[in-house]
Amino acid sequence: MRVVKTIAGMKELRPQLAPPVGFVPTMGYLHEGHLSLVTYAKDENVNVVVSIFVNPTQFGPKEDFACYPRDLDRDLAMLERVGTDVVFAPTTEDMYPPGFDTWVEVGELSKPLEGASRSTHFRGVTTVVAKLFNIVQPNKAYFGQKDAQQALVLTKMAADLNMNLEVVTCPTKREPDGLAMSSRNIYLNEEERKAAKVLYKALLRAKQQYQAGEKGAARLRQGMIDLIKSEPLANIDYVSIASNETLKEIEAMITPPALVSLAVKFGNTRLIDNVVLE
Ligand code: AMP
Repeated sequence: MRVVKTIAGMKELRPQLAPPVGFVPTMGYLHEGHLSLVTYAKDENVNVVVSIFVNPTQFGPKEDFACYPRDLDRDLAMLERVGTDVVFAPTTEDMYPPGFDTWVEVGELSKPLEGASRSTHFRGVTTVVAKLFNIVQPNKAYFGQKDAQQALVLTKMAADLNMNLEVVTCPTKREPDGLAMSSRNIYLNEEERKAAKVLYKALLRAKQQYQAGEKGAARLRQGMIDLIKSEPLANIDYVSIASNETLKEIEAMITPPALVSLAVKFGNTRLIDNVVLE
């Protein structure tokens, strides 16, 4: 496994990598969810590049950029175990030199849900991923359904800008009790960790009620809100049922595919999760 820490080094190495090249962008502090993306990429490509970069431009001023968990050595050992070919771990100074002033923005899809709560988040995500795509030049790039809106926004960016690659969205990996794996789960104390189980329970309640014939979005949404509110440590940011294509909120009857998604705080830790109604 090669570890490349500069943009120049990655650009020099790229022509030596036999295609197809699969790419998994991450912010590090890896877990089984990230590794599952690497495994999908390995199945479909000759070479797999994983980037590790905690991207400052996707964090708001009051968010957790400074304390976001980082452990490069641990990440490298995990990536080596799953057969990663190249790890690209650039510095902030290399990615954003003084005077950097170009932004990539996807319009409507970036506005609701995470975009409404975190106004500059997707501009940061699309800009850094566009830069990473230009540096790594992958044939396929792999993202998690866990960040459903991010996957839709990046798919749209690649299509609208005629990027020469395929964006692949992979299923969410969960803990045995259903909690979606996330680097931020480490912030939860014991009680919050127990309480956080309510998220997937609420999503499953909506899915089961939908499958049992309940098509009214408002009633499904309320069922989830009631369940989450029964957990005293949970603080709802949003609970949404939206079109899984436009992300427009569904007010009346659900026409699939619909994205059921939520963002809930436990103490200072904000968690997101979702399921799709097909
Ligand atoms: P992050 O390091 O949080 O920016 O995540 C890097 C990539 O891993 C993104 O495409 C995420 O959607 C994906 N990812 C994060 N958590 C999970 C999970 N539990 N299951 C599958 N993919 C995930």
